[in-house]
Amino acid sequence: MSSRYNKEKQMSRVKKIVWQNIFQQLQKHFADFCVKQWWGTSDPFERMVGSVLVQNTTWTNADRALQALVAHDLLSPEKLASQSQETLMAHIRPAGFQIAKSKALLTLASWVVAKRGMAGLQASAEATERLRSELIGLKGIGPETADTILLYTLNRPTIAGDAYTRRLAERLTGKKPSYEQVRRDMMEALPEADDLQSLHGLIIELGKAVCQKRRPQCHTCPLQTQCTYAAQETAIIRPQEKYDLAPGSGRFAPPEHS
Ligand code: SF4
Repeated sequence: MSSRYNKEKQMSRVKKIVWQNIFQQLQKHFADFCVKQWWGTSDPFERMVGSVLVQNTTWTNADRALQALVAHDLLSPEKLASQSQETLMAHIRPAGFQIAKSKALLTLASWVVAKRGMAGLQASAEATERLRSELIGLKGIGPETADTILLYTLNRPTIAGDAYTRRLAERLTGKKPSYEQVRRDMMEALPEADDLQSLHGLIIELGKAVCQKRRPQCHTCPLQTQCTYAAQETAIIRPQEKYDLAPGSGRFAPPEHS
């Protein structure tokens, strides 16, 4: 019993160090990264609405819908909550899934109004897990959207164990983590909301630019030396092929014939 407990404690300590180390390396690699610039806004309600609009689409499409709401002066909880679903659907069409997203936005805006607005929510003493449960209980808000909202609009120490994060964790460790597992590991390693905001943004940047879904660019990755996937990829390259690697390309160059 106690040896199992000790083992688990040790594992958790190791995971903590690993995630702290990942965070440091990503900060160094993306030295210019800034959460505010990354979002393009520091307005909490705008970020909240953006978190819903970006579901199942790109940020470019979500931002077009967001700008339509800005242009019609609808980015306040009260104004948004008083719109008809049809009006909202027309404005947010660029983000797609407008039926589901308009319903989610109306429900979310009414929830914010019931909580005495963004100021009331930001001053709330309610526990993060309680607010998270309430958000997940709203139609159209899943764990990923709830964690994004809590982290980036209410500055609560939580983080989304989203597809980018799970892909990174799986490639680094060779094991597939669950949403909740990877979320807990990151939260234990970095207890401050500011750090979790940066970590989440940095992981997404790495996933877009380097650790891509189909063709990870391991040769440019700051995490290469600690990555199980990269180690396996290197191990399956036969000795002669190692000499045939095109410098800097990370891809095999065709062997030259004399
Ligand atoms: S080394 Fe390759 S697989 Fe590993 S995290 Fe970096 S890009 Fe992803």
